[in-house]
Amino acid sequence: MRDSPITATVDFAQDGVQHGHLRLPHSRDDSAWGSVMIPITVVKAGEGPTALFTGGNHGDEYEGPVALFDLVRQLRAEEIQGRVIIVPAMNYPAFLAARRTSPVDGGNLNRLFPGRPDGSVTEKIADYFQRVLLPMADLVADIHSGGKTLDFVPFAAAHRLDDPAQEARCRAAMEAFNAPYSLMLREIDNVGMYDTAAEEMGKTFISTELGGGGSVTAERVAIAKRGLRNLLVHAGILPGEVTRVQSVLLDMPGDDCFLFAEHRGLLEPCIDLGQPVAAGQLVAKVHPIEASGRTPAEYRAKMDGILTGRHFPGLIGMGDCLAMLAVPTNGD
Ligand code: CA
Repeated sequence: MRDSPITATVDFAQDGVQHGHLRLPHSRDDSAWGSVMIPITVVKAGEGPTALFTGGNHGDEYEGPVALFDLVRQLRAEEIQGRVIIVPAMNYPAFLAARRTSPVDGGNLNRLFPGRPDGSVTEKIADYFQRVLLPMADLVADIHSGGKTLDFVPFAAAHRLDDPAQEARCRAAMEAFNAPYSLMLREIDNVGMYDTAAEEMGKTFISTELGGGGSVTAERVAIAKRGLRNLLVHAGILPGEVTRVQSVLLDMPGDDCFLFAEHRGLLEPCIDLGQPVAAGQLVAKVHPIEASGRTPAEYRAKMDGILTGRHFPGLIGMGDCLAMLAVPTNGD
């Protein structure tokens, strides 16, 4: 396969703090020989594990970029052992446009792995992570939230994996991140995800959903900042102790966790995030908006659990993810 067209302006083998770019040639109307310039920071001190931290995989999710643009200015080479590679806004064109997907090619970065070196701009970014950045990493954390169309209780997540030892490593990292909730996450469809790419390489990988709605809160940013530092301590890159608060461990036992809209209209939540719900209980109504006086559709929980995620905008469309439930567990 051909080499990636992306050039890093940082040297991954050099000790110290380097702020630079991943330069991706992108010829276009307003810049014939132009490039997409994706910010990247490398902090390295001697030998040790490598942590790869990312945000902005989806461009309308801000908890990761806020915490990571902050972290890169805090980290000093003298205080670490090993290497930290940080890309605060992976799908940088999408991030600049405040969109989930790229305005350049429509690419949803988290559905395009392993990418292609000769593909679209977004496929080229995926390919660079697949073949250059991920192979360098021991611990990988990708900070997500719900973006403009979803909202979640703040959780860190790991997946069930075929290799129990790898799953245990990922679970330990999830618990070290120490968000208020820790979830063994069931994906709707994991094909093409960065998560899957990292896990298939045997990496210790966690993701998060730290909120959403297309903005941030002070509380959720603080969770992201504390979690990222905790991960560096957990990996032995930063000295000290992992800061621990109570985290509710959650599991998703099956596809009944998800409710998808089968109507379009005006969304009326009947319970809020973090609240318990019993099977059969009303989760939300969808009011028809074509005329007044019509009966709303009712969406009821298919299982006991707590409301972990929800559709965010006031209007909902056919097929939108309306709610996600998860079940508190003791970790067995
Ligand atoms: Ca996301």
